[in-house]
Amino acid sequence: MSACCPACGTTVLAGEAFCEQCGQDLAAAGHSGSCTACGSAAVGSDGYCENCGMLQPTGRDHAETEVETSAGVTDRGLRHSKNEDAMALVTAGPGTVIGVVCDGVSTSSRPEEASQAAADMAALTLAKRIAEGEDAATATREAVAMAARAVAAAARPGEDAPACTYVSAVAAGRHVTVAWVGDSRAYWLGAHPALLTEDDAAPGTHMLTAWLGADAGEVVPHVREFTTDGPGLVLLCSDGLWNYYPEPEALAAAALDDTPVAAARRLVRMANDAGGQDNITVVLIPFGQGDAGDATVAFPKERSG
Ligand SMILES: [Zn+2]
Ligand SMILES: [Zn+2]
Repeated sequence: MSACCPACGTTVLAGEAFCEQCGQDLAAAGHSGSCTACGSAAVGSDGYCENCGMLQPTGRDHAETEVETSAGVTDRGLRHSKNEDAMALVTAGPGTVIGVVCDGVSTSSRPEEASQAAADMAALTLAKRIAEGEDAATATREAVAMAARAVAAAARPGEDAPACTYVSAVAAGRHVTVAWVGDSRAYWLGAHPALLTEDDAAPGTHMLTAWLGADAGEVVPHVREFTTDGPGLVLLCSDGLWNYYPEPEALAAAALDDTPVAAARRLVRMANDAGGQDNITVVLIPFGQGDAGDATVAFPKERSG
């Protein structure tokens, strides 16, 4: 059984929470799927059929996206019942690629809605503002603010506010603008691999000190700008990957010398082979390909804020 997304008209499968094309929240839009196992219409908002108990597929268990030469792969992993990570990958004019990864906070309500709303809103805002000529850092701050508002707006009385982490990258020419809230990460994978972000988490723990959500207070993202002088990949990922592979060198060794989509699949597979305890999301944006032959990579410009 299928239906049409009320926002964009794309065919969507019964039970899907979001339109794969435009990100429209189908449940909020009044779309009610029937159970894919027994056909009952009694599918709860938690995704479980109230008749037979089957967890309905959301289309997010494993998803891949390719935009020009950039690629993203998100995967439920082996231990979680659903994928609460979300990603977005879009372009804003020639040569500018925007990637976003958000990880729903499992202890919050409807974390998968929080992460999808944040990723979609941030990508939309970044693409629009950059196309209008705004600089990447200003557009990024606006995008985080809009994403934070979208997640906060998903809160309902009587439940823990939906929450998620955030990391984004705007890649243009030799420049990358990275922003984050929480413990999703950005890495540079090149001749001198490096972690570009610092987790918003209590030292040595996974306890977040910053996130997007109605209970997050004012969200102030970290925004950093880097300039590369050689080829490589910007990696955005959720903790489902870096829990197993935190070292930039190991990530670079696994990701370089392959196409971004093949490398993204390999990193996801490595996390699953290591246990797959969490949802895994990997976005890879190739960088400085015009500089092939110059293997030196440096980040002389850095600005925090
Ligand atoms: Zn059922
Ligand atoms: Zn996670």
